[in-house]
Amino acid sequence: MVTIFDIKRFAVHDGPGIRTTVFLKGCPLKCAWCHNPESQAMKPVTVDIERKVNGKSVAGKKVYGETMEVEAVLEHILKDAHFYEESGGGVTFSGGEPLMQFEGLKRLLEGCKQSSLHTTVDTSGYAGREQFEEIMDLTDLFLYDLKNMDPELHQKYTGVDNSLILTNADHLLNSGANLIFRIPVIPGINTSPEEVSGMVSFLKERAERMKEIHLLPYHRIAENKYQRLKMKQRLHRVEEPGEALMLQLKETFEQTGLEVIIGG
Ligand code: SF4
Repeated sequence: MVTIFDIKRFAVHDGPGIRTTVFLKGCPLKCAWCHNPESQAMKPVTVDIERKVNGKSVAGKKVYGETMEVEAVLEHILKDAHFYEESGGGVTFSGGEPLMQFEGLKRLLEGCKQSSLHTTVDTSGYAGREQFEEIMDLTDLFLYDLKNMDPELHQKYTGVDNSLILTNADHLLNSGANLIFRIPVIPGINTSPEEVSGMVSFLKERAERMKEIHLLPYHRIAENKYQRLKMKQRLHRVEEPGEALMLQLKETFEQTGLEVIIGG
């Protein structure tokens, strides 16, 4: 069984081609900017909501999350197999942190591989090294977050230290895994000259083992979700990065010699 909070068909930003993205619940991090706060708890979450019916407010409930058999998730995935084949796409497992439900994730990856599907795991990198080793041969691509280089800032804004994340990234790269670093661009959190130059140096040293970097602009669309979930949002008055900042960062990150894609 796995607990998911969404299955998105026809996704085009979570790896190559047309994909199905399966969002698994549970995350060991608590990023201040998290745009999927409903993903953080392992179990489904029920919240009170109000709906408008014929102009009147009606109280109701909304459940975030559903527990499903692995085979049922695979059935969903296989519905669009011909789109994956035609577009060079496949399946992406995201979250939350998909490795939190390790046994379920592994079985899903095995099922996808039995059907010869391209597999991507979108990860924070915060999991045991032995877990990454177990799924490495089942995973065609890792989308790997790089949030803050300064360990204290990383701890402050995500709730965990970044040493395990950086060590796991090196282990994957040294083992020949296909990995794309994804950097969420959050003004004032990881856009200082120190943070940016720290990331550029880190990436430059590893550039020979990678092809590209993705810069993901922070957006504020999750603010309503925090209210609905009655969760406290720690980022206030943070502006979305404008086009000028994104282009400037793109140019700076190109110093690594890697292709830099805004959005991913
Ligand atoms: S790692 Fe991703 S899902 Fe987890 S808290 Fe951070 S942004 Fe949210």
